[in-house]
Amino acid sequence: MPIDARVGLRVLVIEDQHDIAANIWDFLERRSHVVDHCADGVSGLARALEGGFDVIVLDLGLPRLDGLDLCRQLRAAGHGVPVLMLTARDTLGDKLRGFGEGADDYMVKPFAMHELEARIRAVHRRVQPVRDTLVLGCLAYDPATMLATREGRTVALTRLQGNILATLLRDAPKVTPHPRLLQLAWGEDGGDIAALHTQVYELRALIDRPFAHAMIQSVRGIGYRLVDLP
Ligand code: CA
Repeated sequence: MPIDARVGLRVLVIEDQHDIAANIWDFLERRSHVVDHCADGVSGLARALEGGFDVIVLDLGLPRLDGLDLCRQLRAAGHGVPVLMLTARDTLGDKLRGFGEGADDYMVKPFAMHELEARIRAVHRRVQPVRDTLVLGCLAYDPATMLATREGRTVALTRLQGNILATLLRDAPKVTPHPRLLQLAWGEDGGDIAALHTQVYELRALIDRPFAHAMIQSVRGIGYRLVDLP
């Protein structure tokens, strides 16, 4: 599953210990994930309810709202986002309670960062075994097959083109900044702005040029965005 290993996930970290949160943040961002952080349960629940995350890393012991209560309220609100719970309390009781409140996996502190990332990817795959096709108007892209379809015409994309298009589709209608595209498309290899422009040029040749209207728009000096047809 090469595309899964390359594309960063959007991870919300709800953890009140700033050193642990900072370590997780640094490690995951270096591994091309996009991380958001809340330091207490109330703000964490509010952010989680806004949606848009692939996985939530949730500390059990949090100020203002406990991790178990947060998880229960999140599930009660109908959110199925995978939750990986962290705890210092290595007891069977807490573990079972965590699963009872809807957590999908569980890690006991201290843990190795590479194991945390592996668990994040595993829980994401397990909870969402079929990655949804991304759609904007007449344009669709399936990350599993790396095939893009526009107005009934299907083309195969390269890994880089696919990563770029998937990111633009997920962010649409918002502008995706150049640094985010570089991070999510190239990951640790690190592309540069010239390589990005080249890839977008090739992407446009496949999904825009054969058609009457361009969907990929360049926002000068900032990034790219996808627009639905007029
Ligand atoms: Ca804590």
